Amino acid sequence: MSVSVGKNIMVYVETVSKSPVSGALEALSKAHKLAADRGEKVIAVLIGLDLEEAARTSILAGADQAIMVNREAYNMEVYGEVLTKLAEKYRPSLILSAGTLAGKDIMPMVACRLHTGCAVDVMDITETDGQLVFTCPVYGGTVLNQLIIKGTPAIAVVRSGAFAKELTSERTGEIFKEKVETEETSRLKIVDVVKEMAEAVNLEEAEVIVSGGRGMGSLENFKLVEQLAEACHGVVGATRPAIEAEWVPRSHQVGQSGKIVAPKLYIACGISGATQHVSGMIGSGYIVAINKDEDAPVFDIADVGIVGDAVKIIPLLIEEIKRISL
Ligand code: FAD
Repeated sequence: MSVSVGKNIMVYVETVSKSPVSGALEALSKAHKLAADRGEKVIAVLIGLDLEEAARTSILAGADQAIMVNREAYNMEVYGEVLTKLAEKYRPSLILSAGTLAGKDIMPMVACRLHTGCAVDVMDITETDGQLVFTCPVYGGTVLNQLIIKGTPAIAVVRSGAFAKELTSERTGEIFKEKVETEETSRLKIVDVVKEMAEAVNLEEAEVIVSGGRGMGSLENFKLVEQLAEACHGVVGATRPAIEAEWVPRSHQVGQSGKIVAPKLYIACGISGATQHVSGMIGSGYIVAINKDEDAPVFDIADVGIVGDAVKIIPLLIEEIKRISL
């Protein structure tokens, strides 16, 4: 069923342990700005149980209304159906979600059901002549596409860190529960949810990431990357070869087939700067690269480049950081 008229912005607020994920709060804050310019409202949708606190946080991040829909357990098919039904009822002009695995699962499904388009990995949303324009990287971030979605509502999955989350304690809004009937039988059955031990690494929300690549040479040398990360109060990232060499678990991989990150500071050690890696970290605020090859492509995107042996340079950096933090 196609939604013909569109007004207001709906944001799917994904929660983990009953708290909104950072990307959802970022999407809400962006939605708030867009809605203010368009004279529209922001409607947050939260699906799960006991989400009152998360709904309040959604209001602080930019929602005017927060709708809570009870569901026992995550199932992307059911969640997609809930969002579709709410979109048919509230007729938003735009639906946003965080660029998490769940967001990327659910939103294309919702777009398909509403016969509209879905932009994924959105880095920016602007408005030209009343038309929303979505900026998305393609070819590993070497080209930025600008998309216009002809259908209504437009649907966008936003890249983590692309927008700033702004929580304002004085903001108030309406919070209410809504019953949404969904099909009793889902074709999808989630039999178990396994928490990966290494998931404690929250690369997407880290402010400082120190990443190591093949150039670190060995597991022993890779420990220097971990020590530098610790000295900077950051977390460890890695390129695919470092993961394949089993210097660090897969959950640390940054890039096209790993995590998309946007820390304030990204330190790349022994990393060449292949597009598949760069596409995952190009949104970083400040990039420092250490590479012994002065022609390494990583220097093209670095704010500061250090040419030399990372195994010798990292201990000097750690020493200096410790000295200035005393
Ligand atoms: P290399 O490219 O081998 O670079 C090593 C660098 O270290 C070199 O520049 C060298 O000069 C430097 N070096 C060597 N010794 C030292 C030293 N002692 N001190 C300082 N510098 C030194 N890669 C990812 O990272 N993430 C992804 O998500 C990802 N997804 C992919 C998806 C697909 C479909 C494909 C095909 C590839 C993907 N890759 C990914 C792999 C990617 O193409 C590159 O191979 C990889 O990023 C290169 O990793 P690297 O920089 O560690 O290694």
